[in-house]
Amino acid sequence: MRGRLLDANKTINNGCPNWENENLIQCLHGTGLHCFWGLLLSTCFNREVFLEIFRPLWIELNWKLMAVEAVEGKKSKVVVVGGGIAGSLLAKTMQYDADVILIDPKEYFEIPWAKWRCMVQPSFAERAVIGHTEYLTQGRLIVSPAAKVTENHVYTSDNRCIPYDYLVIATGHADSAPLTKAERLQQFQNENQKIQSASSILIIGGGPNGVELAGEIAADFPEKKVTLVHGGPRLLEFLGSKASSKTLEWLTSKNVDVLLNQTVNLFDKYGDDVYRTSARETIIADCHFMCVGRPIGSSWLNATILDKSLDESGRLMVDEHLRIKGWKNAFAVGVITDVPELKQGMFAQKQALVAAKNIKQLIKGKEKKMETYKAGYIMAIVALGRKDAVAECPLATLIGPIPGKIKSKDLFVGRTRRNMGLDRKASS
Ligand SMILES: Cc1cc2nc3c(=O)[nH]c(=O)nc-3n(C[C@H](O)[C@H](O)[C@H](O)COP(=O)(O)OP(=O)(O)OC[C@H]3O[C@@H](n4cnc5c(N)ncnc54)[C@H](O)[C@@H]3O)c2cc1C
Repeated sequence: MRGRLLDANKTINNGCPNWENENLIQCLHGTGLHCFWGLLLSTCFNREVFLEIFRPLWIELNWKLMAVEAVEGKKSKVVVVGGGIAGSLLAKTMQYDADVILIDPKEYFEIPWAKWRCMVQPSFAERAVIGHTEYLTQGRLIVSPAAKVTENHVYTSDNRCIPYDYLVIATGHADSAPLTKAERLQQFQNENQKIQSASSILIIGGGPNGVELAGEIAADFPEKKVTLVHGGPRLLEFLGSKASSKTLEWLTSKNVDVLLNQTVNLFDKYGDDVYRTSARETIIADCHFMCVGRPIGSSWLNATILDKSLDESGRLMVDEHLRIKGWKNAFAVGVITDVPELKQGMFAQKQALVAAKNIKQLIKGKEKKMETYKAGYIMAIVALGRKDAVAECPLATLIGPIPGKIKSKDLFVGRTRRNMGLDRKASS
């Protein structure tokens, strides 16, 4: 057994520095100990303790299996970094055609635009937060942020070294989130408690996040006083001015106070509930939510072989096949790419499907048959509570129940689940 592990280790770490090999040997030797203590303690403690102890064991076993297969030289190895909208769909789509390894800092995939509904209605999160292993039944999962990439390997923050034949970068937005699905569901419960027990709420940021949260609270808790402060001259600046003014009207009609061209300094607070804006206005609120944009998740690529492929805004430059410029076997999908289109999840999914097709063609040696990605047309819908929405498409800007019918009731959760091969309605 020991000899086999060491052989496997050699294969996994082909080309990795020695300290990585030593690290893995220690890790594999630790497996037996984990097993013993895990069994002993699980009989004495509860399920959480059991899972906590066996999670590393499970990951290590997966790791060993991968190494054994690599020795047998079975399938091409596709490493997908980032398990968001784009990366998870690509991993799911490729899992029968390649040895897929998904690297993500958390154990679950979350539909990002359902987050605010999950706060006002925590039960909604049971469908919107999906364990990676629920759809990735054939692939392997490594729960750790990726930290570095070389020509043949991806390194994770916990010092794993993963070889690849094909690489996909899908680390759209960098965000801090709990490790487990149970913790994430609990976080939504806590945020719901915060909303329930407040009679006045301050929302900072008037982009899609702030507007959608204000809409959710105004629709579900009309008795609460909501104030939205935005630093810019109009709401939803990524859309046209018509959409901004219609949204402002809608929020005002629901008694949301909107303060534009002002910022809130959280260090300039009096007591627990008095906030001051840059225009010296005073806001009284029992709690606040920061709804500012998240940074692009590409800082981990700085000082790696891919840093020359980043443009000035930190996005990866790709060619018409979604291959990272200058690379034969590395792709990028989702908001991290420099594709000139609105950074929407539906386009991220479309990119994932095109990149998956192209990798399959490369595996078959049919490079010339790769598909060209065509940038999407502009169409954006921002939900305003459960019934209304504001939509901007090339010919018109609409607000109210018609665009609301498209997005606001289910927030595309059923559709996204179906795309992932899961039951639209059942919670995972
Ligand atoms: C309020 C709001 C509403 C929206 N509504 C819609 C809508 O109605 N329809 C629509 O199509 N789009 C919508 N969007 C846009 C949509 O959310 C994004 O376009 C989409 O999430 C982008 O997908 P992605 O996979 O590129 O990135 P993300 O979904 O951000 O996923 C990135 C993944 O990479 C992981 N990651 C980050 N760093 C690392 C690392 N170093 N190593 C490993 N993993 C890493 C993250 O944990 C995450 O899992 C909305 C966005 C907002 C903010």
